[in-house]
Amino acid sequence: MPDKIVVAGVSVDTRHWIGGRRVASGDTFTDASPIDGSVLGEIARGGPAEAQAAVVAARDAFPAWAATPRAERARLLHAIADGVEKRLEELAIVETNDNGALLRSHRRGVMPRVAHNFRFFADWLLKLDHEDFETRGHTNHVSWDPAGPCVLITPWNAPLMLATWKVAPALAAGNTVVLKPAEWSPLTASLLADIAAEAGLPAGVLNVVQGYGAEIGDALTSHPDVRRISFTGSVPTARRIAASAAANLTPLSLELGGKSPLLVFADADLDLAVDLAVEQYDNAGQVCLAATRILVEETVAAEFTRRFLEKAATLTQGDPRDEASDIGPNIHPRQLEKIDGFVQRAIAAGARAIVGGHRGDGQYYAPTLLADVAQDSEIVQEEVFGPVLTLQTFADEDEAVRLANDTRFGLAATVATGDTRRAERVTAQLVAGTVWVNCFFVRDLLAPFGGSRQSGVGREGGTWSFDFYCDLKNTVTAPKGWNQDHG
Ligand code: NAD
Repeated sequence: MPDKIVVAGVSVDTRHWIGGRRVASGDTFTDASPIDGSVLGEIARGGPAEAQAAVVAARDAFPAWAATPRAERARLLHAIADGVEKRLEELAIVETNDNGALLRSHRRGVMPRVAHNFRFFADWLLKLDHEDFETRGHTNHVSWDPAGPCVLITPWNAPLMLATWKVAPALAAGNTVVLKPAEWSPLTASLLADIAAEAGLPAGVLNVVQGYGAEIGDALTSHPDVRRISFTGSVPTARRIAASAAANLTPLSLELGGKSPLLVFADADLDLAVDLAVEQYDNAGQVCLAATRILVEETVAAEFTRRFLEKAATLTQGDPRDEASDIGPNIHPRQLEKIDGFVQRAIAAGARAIVGGHRGDGQYYAPTLLADVAQDSEIVQEEVFGPVLTLQTFADEDEAVRLANDTRFGLAATVATGDTRRAERVTAQLVAGTVWVNCFFVRDLLAPFGGSRQSGVGREGGTWSFDFYCDLKNTVTAPKGWNQDHG
C-alpha cells in the first residue's frame, strides 16, 4: 500500500503516528468518499499490536510532558493552532471529501473552531487556579495534576472538531494522547499529527492510530497504563467501552447520542421557530445535538407546518464542495440503509411523510419530516442520525415538557417562545445538558458540555475538562511551628 495518498491535491499519510514516527500495518481498510463513493485510499488498519505500541509511546513520553511548564505547553498548543490556521483550506477540503459535510462550513465554522480549541485550552490552562483556603491555620492548596496517557475515540460526523475538543484539553493538562479517529473519516487526524510534529510537540505526546473500533478498541480501552478514556459516539459502543474500562476502573467521559426536542409554543416568533426547525437538517442530520423531535403547540401547528414546507423547499441538496449546497450526502451506504430502515418502518407503522420519506440519488437521503408518530414509537424514541425529523403537537406546557423529557436521552433541548416566564419555567424542567431558548448551536468552550441520562457521562469544557483530564490534588500544609499533638 502507498504510504501517502493525495486527496483534492493534499498529501495525506495513511500510516499510524506512534512515538513520533509513521508506522504501517500489515493490513489496510478502504476509505471512500461519501460524495460519490470513490475510493480515497487504503488506510493502515491497526489492531492490538498498534494499540500497545501507541500506549507505550504515550506512557514513555508522559513524565517529560507532564513536567513541561504550563507556559511552554500553552505555547506549543498555540503553535498547533497556528499550523491549523495555516493549513485551514487543506483541512477543510480533505474533511469534506472524507465525511461529506459542507466545505463552506468547514472553511468558515469548523476549522477555525479547531484552531480555537487549542487556543482556548492553552489560555485556560494559564488561568486555571483555585484560591488557597485555610483550615484551622493550615493551608489547603488545590492542584490539577496531569493524569497520564489518555485514549480519545471519536466519531465521523465532525471528525477533527470533536477530536481536537479532546486532544487540546488533554495535552494542555499535561497528559499524553492516543487518538483513534473513526474508520469512515480518518484523514484529518493524520494531518493533525503532521501539524503537531511541525509545531514541535515532542515525540509520543500525541499518537494517532487508525482502524476498526471492534479490532483496536478493546486493546486501547482495557490497557492498564491508560489513565483516562474520552469517547464520543453511540450508546452501544459506549457500553462496550465502559465494560472494557471497568477492568482498571479507568475514568471515562462519554459524549453520546441524542433525540433532542424543539418545543414551539404558540407565543413564539413562528418564522424563527421554522428557521430553527429547518436548521436541524444541517450536516445531513448527522449532528448529535440535532433537535429531531419537533413539538408544536396545537393552535399553531397548521401554520408552522405550512411555513416549514415553504422553507424546506428552498434547501439545496447536492455536492458539499459546492457553495450553493445546503445539505450534503450521508456518510456511508450502511448509514443510509439504517436511516431508510427507520423511515420505512415508521411509515409502515402509520407515520405520514409530509416532506421526503425516501432516498435521494447516490448517498443522499431526502430531508424528511414525519407526522402522525406515536410517542412510544421507534422513530420518536431512537436516534436516526440522518435528515429525519418528527412532528408532534401538544395541548399545553405540561404536555410539552412531558413529551420533551420522555426518551432515554438528554443531550439538548431547544425552546421557542416569546414569553420569558414560560422560558424559565420550561427550561427548569427539561432534562438536557444544553438548553437553547430562541436559538440553536450557540456554543462556548467555557460552558459545561455533555449529556444527561444515556446521552453521556460527565461534562467537558473550561475547567470541567481539566477536572476530568487531571488528578485533582489537595495539599494541606501546617503553619510553621505547628505541633500535631499540641496544636
Ligand atoms: P460509533 O459508536 O459507531 O463509533 C465511534 C467511534 O468508536 C469510532 O472511532 C469507532 O471506531 C469506535 N469504536 C467502535 N467500536 C469500538 C470498541 N468496541 N471499542 C472502542 N472503540 C470503538 O459512533 P459513530 O457512528 O461513529 O458516531 C455517531 C454517534 O456519535 C451518534 O450516536 C452521535 O449522536 C454520537 N455523537 C455524539 C456527540 C456528542 O458530543 N454527544 C457528538 C457527535 C456524535
